[in-house]
Amino acid sequence: MRVVIIGGGVIGLVTAWRTAQRGAEVTVVDPEPGGGAAGVAAGMLAAVTELHYGEEALLALNLASARRYPAFAAELEEASGREIGYRACGTLAVALDADDRAHLRELHALHRRCGLDSTWLTGRECRRLEPMLAPGVRGGLRVDGDHQTDPRRLTAALLTACERAGVVFVRRRAERLAVAGDRAAGAVLADGTTVEADRVVVAAGSESGRLAGVPEEVLPPVRPVKGQILRLRVPPAYAPFLSRTVRALVRGGHVYLVPRADGELVLGATSEELGWDTTVTAGGVYELLRDAHELVPGITELPLVETRAGLRPGSPDNAPLLGPTALPGLHLATGHHRNGVLLTPITGDALAETLTTGDVPEEIRPFTPRRFDRTLQES
Ligand code: FAD
Repeated sequence: MRVVIIGGGVIGLVTAWRTAQRGAEVTVVDPEPGGGAAGVAAGMLAAVTELHYGEEALLALNLASARRYPAFAAELEEASGREIGYRACGTLAVALDADDRAHLRELHALHRRCGLDSTWLTGRECRRLEPMLAPGVRGGLRVDGDHQTDPRRLTAALLTACERAGVVFVRRRAERLAVAGDRAAGAVLADGTTVEADRVVVAAGSESGRLAGVPEEVLPPVRPVKGQILRLRVPPAYAPFLSRTVRALVRGGHVYLVPRADGELVLGATSEELGWDTTVTAGGVYELLRDAHELVPGITELPLVETRAGLRPGSPDNAPLLGPTALPGLHLATGHHRNGVLLTPITGDALAETLTTGDVPEEIRPFTPRRFDRTLQES
């Protein structure tokens, strides 16, 4: 069976690797495989601290993927010979004023209703865990199950694992979906050649909703959500600066600090609806540094080594679109929004099973692309 995957970001690559492992002939079409939003992302595996009201179905998927991470990381590192920076470090979400504290208390109540493992701490207890926190911290939630991985190492490892599993890379842009009769039949490149396939997966991240040739009624309603993010470096003299991911809601905006084992400290992230703009702005950098400084004043001492902006593939319900569409042969693996790195293991497993057996695993059924199918909604 021949599978073409349009888009070789973290989601396209994991789908390619897992599908090739099951014996399919897999081709990834992407001018820059291994690029995309994962080159920017923080890599939090934050099923619990990213929980939002009304997203309980997504929580189940996020938790299922988080549970797979240790075995996934070990298998991928073995297959690629590269480390992916998986770190079971836990997360501390803190509040800086009375409003933030009330919000965090509500989140804690939601965690308890959902049976999640999170513990309320006083401000003093938070600072005992993380001495670099500001003295004004009013309380926080300790979540020992929200970990992290390094998304750049993850995509590099997936690229190698794909190559070793026999995945073919066509380093070109797919100009349009090829359709033959009533079926998706491959990807058409700029020079007019078609990479033919029995099954096509659109995994083009924030661009998934604008691929030419995809019939209007199955075109995924995915939009770009811009995120600006900074990278700092913790010199050895300051280590350990933070021992776990620290995050906070400051004046309604989210800020987080993700400390890597190699000394990188990721500070993110803005969330902006500005189309395909990836400009790093003075205002974005200012807001991130201002909020992070309130949280951990010592960050201003650290070297700032990188500023970037990337595009999350947002969907109308913040959940991914996974599996077959109403067009025979066309599958989607997109719309992962804030959680694409977290959802990498389960997406790869579930798409590979769907593509090679035709059976859609139970855990991804709530995320069928057909929930947005325009012809179904109209009828
Ligand atoms: P992308 O990574 O965008 O990849 C899409 C690929 O498709 C690209 O390589 C592109 O070149 C290719 N492509 C597009 N159009 C075409 C075409 N026509 N033909 C061929 N190829 C095409 N997630 C987490 O889990 N944890 C986090 O902490 C986290 N932090 C984030 C912070 C920021 C600032 C941002 C921006 C994102 C963050 N994310 C996080 C989200 C995560 O990065 C995304 O959900 C994930 O990278 C989406 O992967 P993808 O492969 O679907 O899309």
